[in-house]
This record gives sequence, C-alpha cells and structure tokens, in this order.
Amino acid sequence: MADPKGFLSTPRRLPPRRPVAERVRDWNEVQVPGGLLPIVGAQAGRCMDCGIPFCHAGCPLGNLIPEWNELVSRDDWRRASERLHATNNFPEFTGRLCPAPCESGCVLAINQPAVTIEDVERAIVDRAWESGYVIPKPPERLSGKTVAVIGSGPAGLAAAQQLTRAGHTVAVYERADRVGGLLRYGIPEFKMEKRHLDRRLAQMRAEGTKFRTGVGVGTDVDAAELRARYDALVIAVGATAWRELSVPGRELAGIHQAMEYLPLANRVQEGDFARPPITAEGRHVVIVGGGDTGADCLGTVLRQGAASVTQLDIHVRPGTERPEDQPWPVHPKIYRMSAAHEEAQELGASPDADVDARLFSAATIRFEGAHPGPGGATAGVRALRLVGIDADGRPESGSERVLRADMVLLALGFSGPERDGGLIDQLGLELDARGNIARDEGFATGCEGVFVAGDAGRGQSLIVWAIAEGRSAAAAVDRYLAGSTTLPAPVTPADRPMVV
Ligand SMILES: Cc1cc2nc3c(=O)[nH]c(=O)nc-3n(C[C@H](O)[C@H](O)[C@H](O)COP(=O)(O)OP(=O)(O)OC[C@H]3O[C@@H](n4cnc5c(N)ncnc54)[C@H](O)[C@@H]3O)c2cc1C
Ligand code: SF4
Repeated sequence: MADPKGFLSTPRRLPPRRPVAERVRDWNEVQVPGGLLPIVGAQAGRCMDCGIPFCHAGCPLGNLIPEWNELVSRDDWRRASERLHATNNFPEFTGRLCPAPCESGCVLAINQPAVTIEDVERAIVDRAWESGYVIPKPPERLSGKTVAVIGSGPAGLAAAQQLTRAGHTVAVYERADRVGGLLRYGIPEFKMEKRHLDRRLAQMRAEGTKFRTGVGVGTDVDAAELRARYDALVIAVGATAWRELSVPGRELAGIHQAMEYLPLANRVQEGDFARPPITAEGRHVVIVGGGDTGADCLGTVLRQGAASVTQLDIHVRPGTERPEDQPWPVHPKIYRMSAAHEEAQELGASPDADVDARLFSAATIRFEGAHPGPGGATAGVRALRLVGIDADGRPESGSERVLRADMVLLALGFSGPERDGGLIDQLGLELDARGNIARDEGFATGCEGVFVAGDAGRGQSLIVWAIAEGRSAAAAVDRYLAGSTTLPAPVTPADRPMVV
C-alpha cells in the first residue's frame, strides 16, 4: 500500500470529458486526451490493499487490482503492465468499455466513492503501448496441433491469443470483412477508437495467429469439413440473434434493428462510405430499448445530426442510490448517465422526455405510418404510439402518447446465437434451455474436439466475460490437445455475475 492515508486524504476524481458541443461534431473518444495521466497516480493511491479484496469478486478475469494500484501509485508502469496482462489479454478494451463491476465491489464503496479501477487499468495499458512494453510474445516451440476459432469477437480473440502463445497453430475464421466482432461493428468509435483494436490485432498477427475474413462457417465452408481439417474447433460466434418487436406497423419503412444501423455508422469510420446508407440526419428518431445498445444508438444518432431523439425504456426509472435489496458488493441497478445521455441532456435532444432523452415505464403499442407510396412502395413510419405502464407491467389508463418518429431503432437485446447459419446443424450441436450452444463444465460440446466460448455459450453478456471465457476455453482446448495445461482458467461455464 503506497499511501496508507490515500483513501482518507484523496477524493475520487474522474478524468475530464471533452465539451459536448465539441465531441458531438466528431467520432473520437469523449475523454480529453492526456487528461487521465496527471490524476491517476493519486487515484490508485486511494486503494487500501484490502486483506480480502472484494474488487476481485466482481471481476471474472480475477484481475490483480490492488497489485497494479500499488505499482501505479509508485510510478512502476512496466511491472503494472505485466501484472495487468497476467490476467487480461485486452485491457485496453475493458479499460474503456467495461461497466466495472469491480468498482461496485470495492470495499471503499461501502461508505465512500470506489477506487477508479477502470481508469487505472486504461492508464496502465495506454502507457504500456506508448512505452513499448506491449510486444508480440510468439511461442518458443510449436506443438504441431491446429485449432480453428470461429468468430473474432473478444472471446474468439482471447482464445486465439492464448492458444497461439501455447504453441498451437491457430486460424480465426470470421464471416465479416474485418476482424473484431461487436468491438468492430457494434461498439461506436466514440466509446473505443478502433485503432486500439487494430494495434492488438497486429500484435496477434506477429505472434502467428492467422485471420481468414469473409468466411461464414456453415455457409461458405462446411463446419464438419473444418472440424476434420483441424485438431480442435472453438466456436465463438456470439449471441447476435436480435429480439423483435411484434406490434402493428413493424413492417413500415424506417424501422431498423440497432445492429442493422450501428455497423453502417461504424463503416463510415472505417472509410467504407462517406455517408451511411441509413442515417439519422434531420430525422425525428425514437430508440426502443433502454440498455447500452440503445445508448450507443443515441450517441450515434446525435453525431449524425438528428432533428430530435427519444429513448424508451420499459422499466421503471431506477433510483440514483444503491437499493437496499442490492447491497454491496453486487453491481446494482441504479440510474446511470452515459456519455451519450449527458450529450442528449445538454443538447436538449428530446421534446418528449424530461431529461437526457429517456422516457421510462414506456411500452410501444404500435407504429403509425404514411399511406403506401406509388406502385405499392412500403410506407414510412411517422409516429410511435406508447402507453405508460406500472411496476407490474400493467398499462396505466389515460397514459397513451404519440411520439413523432420518422426513424425508429430497436435495441431490445439478443436471444442467443443465430440458429439458421448451418454451423449448428453441420456439427450436430445441441442448444441449452436458454437457446445457447450447450457445453459441459469444460466448455466442450457433444461433438468431439469442439468447444464453445463467449456469448454463444453464455448468452448476451459483457466483454470482460467474453475474454474470461476465451481464456478458460483455451485452457480446456490445450488440455484436450496436449494432455495437460498451464493456461489459466478464470471462469467455468456455470459462473455468473454476483447478484442478489
Ligand atoms: C451495440 C453493442 C454495444 C455493446 N457495448 C458493450 C460495452 O460497452 N461493454 C461491454 O462489456 N459489452 C458490450 N456489449 C456486449 C459485448 O459486445 C459482447 O458481450 C461481446 O462482444 C461478446 O463477445 P463474443 O466474442 O462472444 O461475440 P461477438 O463479439 O458477438 O463476436 C462474434 C463474431 O462471430 C462472427 N460469426 C458469427 N457466426 C459466424 C460464422 N458462422 N462463421 C464465422 N464467423 C461468425 C460474427 O460476425 C462476430 O464477428 C455490447 C453489445 C452490443 C450489441
Ligand atoms: S476492494 Fe477497492 S480498496 Fe480494496 S483492494 Fe480492491 S480496489 Fe483496493
């Protein structure tokens, strides 16, 4: 513990964000560049180096948080980077994108603001890249065994890096034209600039991992044939089957799924289009769904120059304090203000919501549209009719409202992996009761030598869980191929986030 009184003398401080008016005119990350480093040493010094560090309990990776807090507060960045990378392949992703359940579990959070663990993580890894501490780590010798990883999201990438470093020859198959999964085409640039992903992929290529993009396994390549060509397969195809909103008017033009919309916006940043084929520019937009995907749509809609935007959440508005039935150290459901909500509030983006563009306890009844166009062309959406609901989901009388909407984005979550792509049938895989790909306690499916990692097996989750699953599945594959393993396995398929 570098500063025994740090938690008493130093208040929690977050790095500054760029002014809203400036940041909604570009796509760069919202933080002020260089704003974190001057404050992060003192923030890390707030850590009490607890005898039982509950921050560990919140993190599926088992991150060595008190160790790197102390190293940062002592200005020992090289060793901090070593300890950080000992448990996490991609801390630059989690340091930007994780909801930080470790901070909810921090012992300081019992009666004070938690240590800014996620900021410390980001500072360490950014500094490590700048200082040249992050270098390729190719294996010393090859095992002669081959592995195909299907899907290049955080689970597939973590599994591939672990297995490559263990000496196996690994090829990652990705149906999209670029590597990265939801990190590439789901998560917007203003939350994580893609240069961070590309830099990590360059490291992986230098270590020997091969990438085959534009190959859908099950459609372009038969999955059973692929199994026969490799000694093992890791399926990390995500849980990308989106939920629908089956209400009257759903067929109207201008209503899109979030994952039809966000990838196009991300492709503009990749240089594929000057203007996205679906854009919110000049539109009155309603986002249906109050989660993080909805917030990503919100930030994107604002940057595209929408005329107005409202986000609907079917849930009751949560309070700002931790509720009594969600005691420390669980990650509580509270009212959180993302950068996109901050932007919506400051810009007064919604004429229909009180603050920050959100309407809670709102259920969509139907979409209303213009008459069909000439020649039977699909009519466009003009409005969304909603009803207010009580805590039990019952409609409240007299609460119907009509919101102007000439574009609607559906962000209702995902029901599991896509079932119709051929992959599941060709390998004869089974689904579990929740519709995810079934696996045993060792990440293995019923098909010999085929393993499952990430959202495909767990269901819609978080990047930190995907990385933890990728690491653990890699350990299982290594044991299968080599008879034993020294690779770490931080989670089992049955592990779940801490809840009440
Ligand atoms: C819009 C959005 C924003 C999010 N923001 C956050 C966030 O801020 N923080 C956070 O922690 N989590 C966030 N999440 C959740 C997080 O992105 C996922 O939990 C995580 O990416 C899952 O990783 P994965 O590797 O299992 O799958 P994915 O990232 O979904 O990757 C699966 C990959 O497999 C490929 N694939 C699928 N089928 C095939 C096939 N047959 N052949 C070849 N390739 C195939 C897909 O193209 C995809 O690239 C967000 C999710 C969404 C949708
Ligand atoms: S729980 Fe908080 S104070 Fe304790 S070791 Fe972890 S980060 Fe430090």
